[in-house]
Amino acid sequence: MPKTYEGGCLCGDVRFEVTGPIKFPHTCSCKMCQRHSGSLTQVWIEVPRDRVKWTGKGGAPKKWRSSAGSSRSFCGTCGLTIGAIDDKPVVAFTIGTFDKTGAKDLMPQSLSYVGGRPKWWSVM
Ligand SMILES: [Zn+2]
Ligand SMILES: [Zn+2]
Repeated sequence: MPKTYEGGCLCGDVRFEVTGPIKFPHTCSCKMCQRHSGSLTQVWIEVPRDRVKWTGKGGAPKKWRSSAGSSRSFCGTCGLTIGAIDDKPVVAFTIGTFDKTGAKDLMPQSLSYVGGRPKWWSVM
């Protein structure tokens, strides 16, 4: 049986269940990720769309078109950042939305836009 991962937003309207394996967990410190997360580095978990189920009463998250090929996703009730939904069949989640953030397979495998971080900010 493939491993499953659950998560959701602050108010619980958006809940999800993802079926593993997790693809390409990575950090990004580009300016868009900084604004999107409100933090200096975003940690992304990507999965193919057909392995994502939206299980909360709010269904799929709301979307805002942020760039060619991708929209940012969020809960329409509490506003929490869920991640991004690409035009190609990929859904990206921010790691903090997962119920169990300590799962070893969520650990980032690569670091993007490292130069966008302040020197005092250490991720890993
Ligand atoms: Zn919510
Ligand atoms: Zn980025």
